[in-house]
Amino acid sequence: MIRAFIETSLVDWDGKISSVVFFDKCNFRCPFCQNWDLIINPDKFPVVKWEHIKKKLQNKKGWVDGLVLTGGEPLCCEQEVFQVCKKTKKLGLQVKIDTNGSYPAILQNLIKNKLIDFVAMDIKAPIDERYNTAAGKQIDLEKIKQSIQMLLNGEIDYEFRTTCVPGIIDENAIHQIGKHIKGAKKWALQAHVPDNAYKVLYRQSLNPEYYKMLIKYLEIAKKYIPNTILRGKV
Ligand code: SF4
Repeated sequence: MIRAFIETSLVDWDGKISSVVFFDKCNFRCPFCQNWDLIINPDKFPVVKWEHIKKKLQNKKGWVDGLVLTGGEPLCCEQEVFQVCKKTKKLGLQVKIDTNGSYPAILQNLIKNKLIDFVAMDIKAPIDERYNTAAGKQIDLEKIKQSIQMLLNGEIDYEFRTTCVPGIIDENAIHQIGKHIKGAKKWALQAHVPDNAYKVLYRQSLNPEYYKMLIKYLEIAKKYIPNTILRGKV
């Protein structure tokens, strides 16, 4: 279900003005998650009905480019996501989906039916046992690999994004991830936000060294993906 709606955002889709909807389920439990309350205690948040969203989108017609589906993991709500995409397209708007990449078949179906225009896929760690730490549970790594290959070899516009969480991401991790996604159109390295992290361990304040490390990570990442950017408050 949709539990939150932002009418206008300049930061959720690079180069576009977007509205954003938040779905309330996720199959991961990343210890650094910012939206953990939404997925663990969804009933604390009122359901946002499509009619409300539709009215707002219609009011903004002409200057909002599209709708971003985020969460949680939107693809946990497969049927609702399909409906929202179809209805958004009918309004003449583009659709971006944020995903953790664990549902390649659903993602492929959305792409095949031309219901989405842009995919932002998280790469949380190198695709080995470190991924399970980053995701907070055992993950089917093959699914992550399938989603990566689908985006690398497909035609839909996309970006990969990695939140540079201390204790999970280091120089070696950037090298490894760079190898996994070599040839990608775009990679966004995102600054970790400790304030509201799910697990206390990841709420520790960042020091100036952290930001220097981000610059180093950027240099390394660009060797694999020239179009790598830094994102966040750095
Ligand atoms: S995949 Fe995203 S929403 Fe789900 S737990 Fe991880 S950071 Fe939170």
